[in-house]
Amino acid sequence: MKSEGPATLLYAALASELAELEQRGLTRRRRVLETPQGARVAVDGREFVSFCSNDYLGLAAHPELIEAARQGAADFGVGAGASHLILGHATAHEVLEQRLASFTGLPRALLFSTGYMANIGVATALLGREDAVFADRLNHASLNDAALLARARFQRYPHLDLDALARLLAASRARRKLVVTDAVFSMDGDIAPVPDLVALCERYDAWLFLDDAHGFGVLGPEGRGVLAHFGIRSPRVIYMATLGKAAGVFGAFVAGETEVVESLIQRARTYIYTTAAPAMMSVALQKSLDLIQGGEARRQHLRALIARLRERLQPEQWRLMPSQTAIQALVIGSSGAAVAVSEALAREALLVPAIRPPTVPQGTARLRISLSAAHTHEEVERLATALNVLQ
Ligand SMILES: *Cc1c(COP(=O)(O)O)cnc(C)c1O
Repeated sequence: MKSEGPATLLYAALASELAELEQRGLTRRRRVLETPQGARVAVDGREFVSFCSNDYLGLAAHPELIEAARQGAADFGVGAGASHLILGHATAHEVLEQRLASFTGLPRALLFSTGYMANIGVATALLGREDAVFADRLNHASLNDAALLARARFQRYPHLDLDALARLLAASRARRKLVVTDAVFSMDGDIAPVPDLVALCERYDAWLFLDDAHGFGVLGPEGRGVLAHFGIRSPRVIYMATLGKAAGVFGAFVAGETEVVESLIQRARTYIYTTAAPAMMSVALQKSLDLIQGGEARRQHLRALIARLRERLQPEQWRLMPSQTAIQALVIGSSGAAVAVSEALAREALLVPAIRPPTVPQGTARLRISLSAAHTHEEVERLATALNVLQ
């Protein structure tokens, strides 16, 4: 119970901060999903076509994954019951790690509970005050938080500006250098120039930490991710991908050289001081890897939908960002205008999230259209037509 006294001042301060967010059109609200994740969903008792999920291959509610999770629960129970280093590491985790390493073409892989935790774990385990992180300005927030928690010098370069990055690297006296980038930028959908980044890292003796949250399962032959997309193999690379997006389940992994993975096991606090993710999810994820590997038809359909949307959308006052991936950003400008367009689409049973600052830079509030292999061409046409009419 809030009563009179000094605490009321604390609540008054929060209330006025919340009121200010509301006034600036920046209040975030959750919709309540009443169905499994997918291209067609029910929210608040109404049906929508959703362009909101990162479930790019439409696997989140796939019957074979649901069956694998059921079997996993029968074999391993529901809770892991302990951290990996105590007794939470089951055969299902072990097998999945080996499969993820061979799938990505890297020597070892290590599971984390989430991508956010994986990013924090890598930076804090490998870096300290004598070290430096070089980060693209449009990187995901978890990578920025990771650099700050590692207490390393945090140097950001303008989006994709490799000349600026080279200058920072050349001037750095840091003991260890870690270049950090989204492989597919989460709010723009463009792909980082990984071969050029690897070359820079070789030249300046740095690591390249790739966050492939949006490439794994989608890019490259058999969906092996951004490294396969570019045909790259390099001991400079530390690779992270999430398993709650295209893979349709939950979790994340880091893959790289043996010394990196061993160091993470010994030192990553987000690995050590947390309960292992349930083994049943690793069973589901093994099935997911099978579906990803055999999912060329899904990826082909997704590519066709991307091409269709870009061909049909005719923005005049808005800007469709260059992107070959499932993330298509339509920059509207002000937060209020982006929210108004998102609400107008919702009235036509089309759900597209408006993304506002601070998730994206000031003045670039946008619709983030996420396409999925579960969409039909007709649904993408409906969205494009609605947007063309609205603007
Ligand atoms: C989603 C995302 C993460 C976080 O992964 P979770 O498993 O959802 O915690 C990290 N990096 C990028 C680029 C992401 O898009």
